[in-house]
Amino acid sequence: MKYYDKLIFELSKSGRTGYSLPSKVSDKDSLPSSGNLWRQSSLGLPEVSELDVVRHYTNLSQMNFGVDTGFYPLGSCTMKYNPKINEEIVGQFNGIHPLQPLETVRGCAEVYEGIDAALASVTGMKHFTFEPCAGAHGELTGLMLMREYHFSRGDMGRTKVIVPDSAHGTNPASAAVCGLEIVEVKSKADGLIDVEDLKPLLGPDIAGIMMTNPNTLGLFERDIKEIAALVHDCGGLLYYDGANMNPLIGVVRPGDMGFDIMHLNLHKSFSTPHGGGGPGSGPVGVADKLVNLLPRYDKGVEKSESGIRVSGFHGNFGVILRAYAYLLMLGRENVRMAGKLATLGANYIKESLKDCYKLPIPTVCKHEFVFDGLVNDGAREGVAGATTLDVAKRLLDYGFHAPTIYFPLLFHQAIMIEPTETESLETLDAFIEVMRKIAAEAAEDPELLHSAPHATPISRPDETMAARQPKLTWFA
Ligand SMILES: *Cc1c(COP(=O)(O)O)cnc(C)c1O
Repeated sequence: MKYYDKLIFELSKSGRTGYSLPSKVSDKDSLPSSGNLWRQSSLGLPEVSELDVVRHYTNLSQMNFGVDTGFYPLGSCTMKYNPKINEEIVGQFNGIHPLQPLETVRGCAEVYEGIDAALASVTGMKHFTFEPCAGAHGELTGLMLMREYHFSRGDMGRTKVIVPDSAHGTNPASAAVCGLEIVEVKSKADGLIDVEDLKPLLGPDIAGIMMTNPNTLGLFERDIKEIAALVHDCGGLLYYDGANMNPLIGVVRPGDMGFDIMHLNLHKSFSTPHGGGGPGSGPVGVADKLVNLLPRYDKGVEKSESGIRVSGFHGNFGVILRAYAYLLMLGRENVRMAGKLATLGANYIKESLKDCYKLPIPTVCKHEFVFDGLVNDGAREGVAGATTLDVAKRLLDYGFHAPTIYFPLLFHQAIMIEPTETESLETLDAFIEVMRKIAAEAAEDPELLHSAPHATPISRPDETMAARQPKLTWFA
């Protein structure tokens, strides 16, 4: 262990300080001696110098992995580089407050109007609400709108929502939270929705279908026009999970595919550093026929006919502003290059590795694709083969973040890889080289992988315990 890997409490030396306060406080400023306001015992803070504190936090920051420290091919998450000018711009708005009079924040109102128009133009929706603070939050909002739409027409029997078996886990979860019953539609062997399996599910009890396109396997649902017609014919609506819209921005519009409601993850496709639970923004857009139900406020007055409200004010303004800056910076022409380059990168990695990693669906993918474990996992008499988890852990030793693993659930050893457009060919080649090296290690000595990572501050924590009972406080 390096000296400064020690906890700051362990560096503490009695009497050392990193600050100086005036030695005398005038009587008029001091607390009354009666009433128990004075601290009786010391706070027990570490006694350290300013330099110790700086090193402590700097070293802590380096124990983590971020998109600013290395390649982060986390499928379904679009961990793209966040241009630093975004932070510069957001920094200018630090002083605002949501209760300020509108005349004093005209610029912010303009940001909302501008991004609403920009997103409407790239998605084919009519208007967006910016209240939802995450993708799943957007899904819930969108489903509430779907339910409200049917109710407002006196159509009370639509209690079910169709979700494909390849869907992101938040889709069925949001539907359940919204009080809707989930009906699963199967995928075919090629990874696309089975239209023949869908047909018998449709009827007067269907509120709608939730889809993502390209789906979680990175495949474009070619039958989307037919699916849209079928769902609309039965009186249902189409919900588009646009969390992974990166490959389509400026190329294809969900509105044109027939979708009525959708959310975008501004914190994925439109820059903003994310992970670890925040910050996020999942604006929800709707087609013309639902606009009157959308949560919308004009000068603080509710303009929506549904009364739906999902956050206190107007959502995560900083994330919304970053997305707007990102869009304006790229412009109409360049924004469509992002998806094309991301798609090219994904296909390049897929083709370069498919002899070492099993590729269950060998067709051209969009921005991401899924492997199903190693071709040769090194399993032999008395030695267990290397798993997807082992490969992911070993990648950390080589300085790459792990891809998404064991998702989607369609494959037992799923490894879901998504490079983004901002990664250079050199970075992609370095990643491919390391993935090939790990495959060779697995074939030779799977034990080496079972115990990886070897070069990180901690190796294999109990992940369930770490998530459910994190130790966030240090006790002596
Ligand atoms: C990330 C993601 C979500 C959920 O977004 P959060 O902001 O994490 O709630 C939903 N659907 C898909 C396809 C996603 O990739």
